[in-house]
Amino acid sequence: MENLDIAKFGGTSVGNFEAMTSSYKVVVGNKNSRVVVISACAGVTNLLVELASGKCDEAKINQIIDKLRDIHEQIIIHLENQHELRNYIEGHLKDIKEQAFKANEGTNDQLTDTIVSHGELMSSYLFVALFKHYGTDAQWFDVRTVMRTDSKFSCAKPVCDEIKVLAHDKLLPLINDKTIIITQGFIGSNTLGETTTLGRGGSDYSAALLGEALDASTISIWTDVAGVFTTDPRIVKTARPIAELTYIEAAEMANFGAKVLHPSTMVPAVRKNIPIFVGSSKEPEKGGTWVRPETKTQPNFRALALRKNQTLIVLSSPVMVGATGFLANVFAVFAKYNHSVDLVSTSEISIAVTIDGGTTTSGAHGVSEAMLNELAQFCHVKVETDLPLIAIIGNRMSENAGVITKAFDSINSFSVRMICYGASKHNLCFLLKDGDTTEALNALHKQLLED
Ligand code: ADP
Ligand code: ASP
Ligand code: MG
Repeated sequence: MENLDIAKFGGTSVGNFEAMTSSYKVVVGNKNSRVVVISACAGVTNLLVELASGKCDEAKINQIIDKLRDIHEQIIIHLENQHELRNYIEGHLKDIKEQAFKANEGTNDQLTDTIVSHGELMSSYLFVALFKHYGTDAQWFDVRTVMRTDSKFSCAKPVCDEIKVLAHDKLLPLINDKTIIITQGFIGSNTLGETTTLGRGGSDYSAALLGEALDASTISIWTDVAGVFTTDPRIVKTARPIAELTYIEAAEMANFGAKVLHPSTMVPAVRKNIPIFVGSSKEPEKGGTWVRPETKTQPNFRALALRKNQTLIVLSSPVMVGATGFLANVFAVFAKYNHSVDLVSTSEISIAVTIDGGTTTSGAHGVSEAMLNELAQFCHVKVETDLPLIAIIGNRMSENAGVITKAFDSINSFSVRMICYGASKHNLCFLLKDGDTTEALNALHKQLLED
């Protein structure tokens, strides 16, 4: 279809009847939005993750099931065919309860994915009913028939070639001017038909993957803020929306913690050159941010991102002096334990690296004891946890004079544990020792982004 827009709505945008109604209006307000990708209703995935942890006794399981019932019931009471909708939700709640008891016998990432997938399945079903309530034809589509992934449960990797073939075969023929297709973000399935998830916040990524597979013209991410801001507007009140961002800037922001976009969202968009719009489903009239290959301006300082709970590992060994192969050995161990290293800094006899807890569906995995023991066989290992990382995102940062002075001046009154600068022209990272991150973020924002 020409000018196809894939419209994605996050949890708060489908969290209750009023929010769903605003999102409905956004969809019908753009004739190109023919495929709608939605998240679970706000709060639902967190409740399902709790059930999947295998740590809830029967009373807790029943309490969570009641909460889940209530969230969906508050939507159903406004709709037609309530009996049928209630039966549908009850069917899911029954399965969730059984699976939660199973998790208590021994949980695993596959079971977690199965449990959390109910969230998106339920919300999308009710969203279809809401469209019908307002007299718009809509069709529910199980995204697992096209969203093919590998079997790495909890953070599955999409298999893009297969997604394209499946989407052309099963989804494209359904797209027309009369019916809106409503489907789920976040979930997928492997070749065996087993349910997988793309990791927390993965619905943005789902929308971009479908956009790529269906040759969409635009991908719209509708959320609870009117675009991507200069930093998280919930932490810095003076943060302001950014009219346009390059793919690189948006990817840097997302990678360093700007939750508004899942870090992988830009990857499929870049491959097909599809612009991404980010806006508020509640206040679409406020406009938003366009993420494109290029922008009119490329300021030195564009935005700030914050990632909490970083782990710093300092590895030292006197034999490093003049030796070769030490770094290779260290990184081989990180690779073996599947830990992706973020910041790196070296001295004559030591290396410092940071590791993020990650965004897998089953929760942060932390640094494994086994890996630390293996590292300890050839160097001294020191671990510090819970450190905040602030990234300054911009352009030509390592090329222009004065950039680093300005950044250092603004972080002056905070204890900095590690600095990363020079590898990328687009970021400068400070790992702080401790202290008030809100204060640090506000101070940096004031100096660098409020002229
Ligand atoms: P959704 O459920 O719609 O996917 P998310 O909660 O995942 O929404 O992302 C939106 C949230 O991202 C905002 O409420 C805001 O607190 C947070 N956020 C973090 N950094 C930024 C930023 N730079 N610009 C806008 N929002 C941000
Ligand atoms: N519902 C999932 C989550 O809360 C996916 C998403 O919202 O993007 O992580
Ligand atoms: Mg999100």
